Amino acid sequence: MLHEKDIRKIRADFPILSQKIYDRELIYFDNAATTQKPEIVVKKIENGYFRYNANIHRGVHYLSQMATDAHEDARQTVANFIKADKKEDIIFTRGTTEAINLVAFSFGEAFCWAGDEIVLSVMEHHSNIVPWQMLCKRKAMKLRVIPIDENGKLYLDEYEAMLNERTKLIAITHVSNVLGTINPVEQIIEIAHRHDIPVLVDGAQAVPHIAVDVKKLDADFYVFSGHKVYGPTGVGVLYGKEKWLERMPPYQGGGEMIATVSFEKTTYNELPFKFEAGTPDYIGSVAFAEALEYVEKIGIKSIADYENRLTEYALERLKIIRNIRIIGNTGQRTSVLSFMIGDIHPYDIGILLDKLGIAVRTGHHCAQPLMDYFNIPGTVRTSFAFYNTKEEIDTFVAALQKVVDMLL
Ligand code: PMP
Repeated sequence: MLHEKDIRKIRADFPILSQKIYDRELIYFDNAATTQKPEIVVKKIENGYFRYNANIHRGVHYLSQMATDAHEDARQTVANFIKADKKEDIIFTRGTTEAINLVAFSFGEAFCWAGDEIVLSVMEHHSNIVPWQMLCKRKAMKLRVIPIDENGKLYLDEYEAMLNERTKLIAITHVSNVLGTINPVEQIIEIAHRHDIPVLVDGAQAVPHIAVDVKKLDADFYVFSGHKVYGPTGVGVLYGKEKWLERMPPYQGGGEMIATVSFEKTTYNELPFKFEAGTPDYIGSVAFAEALEYVEKIGIKSIADYENRLTEYALERLKIIRNIRIIGNTGQRTSVLSFMIGDIHPYDIGILLDKLGIAVRTGHHCAQPLMDYFNIPGTVRTSFAFYNTKEEIDTFVAALQKVVDMLL
């Protein structure tokens, strides 16, 4: 269990947190957009460029072999972190978005035809909507959307009723980036598998906050981004079951992903390289693995427990704000909190909070269909990480009170 004194020590690992903005202590509550980086992660990047930078896989020389080993060890670290069977099931991408595009393209090429259907939910991030829409356009297919109730809970009966012989894949978020809702993905996958339908889980907002075991979930594809889990930008993960990845064509062509090339015929490399065309971000992957090890050292269960306590505290404290409406209340949640206050535009609240040193996100959070569903222009969103504190929440609530008094 994490205590105040542990948090003080943890905060010292994140140099960015100890700075002042507008002459005030920075309070960073925008962790769902991206997390801050511990010093060891940034040092790992520096060390990579200063000590072993060389292009990987093709080199026979010392530095190239060092870089290759570091990159492949990073792949193993990722596999261990999400409890994948083997490192070959891990494909490095630029992030969640690229991982979903890869599957939408490649799975779409192999398995989807006119009239087929993809099922997703109303609470998806645009990254888990638009690539499927593009596939639907390309192949004359249909999107089906699982509805939610006013608390942000998926209607599972309607979901199951939607499945039929034309359903090719379910694409569902593990945790909503707006509501913080943890969806019952294990049950969703179990239902899909009863109908022989594979499931892609968008884990961008889950991996930083809850323990993820892709084997236990039995997910066919699981995707997430390094930068949301204390790693660098530009690196992410596609986990896929071998039985699917083997049968899917490459997403991009180029170096690394080939076995042989002639002008008559190209044969493709084995997994995971078939899906990693070009020079990968081998410096980033190693720093990403360092971030996962950092999280592991603190312990994802301790992190979840601490963040839950922070969120409960914030929910309680926010009750003093007049006309506040929390969007999404399912009980099962992470540390993302979205709210509206009366009819004040979220943007106005965000701007004023910023001047008081508090970073929150406002707007549609790349989930416009969800905003349409709730019939709101957007929300103010706070999202806590394990380096945030109750004192910061107190300061935030007092600042919000001030802002509301000005605007209401
Ligand atoms: N899915 C969800 C649920 C997200 O929260 C995000 C990032 N906001 C993404 C996908 C996209 O992640 P990235 O921009 O790192 O590719």
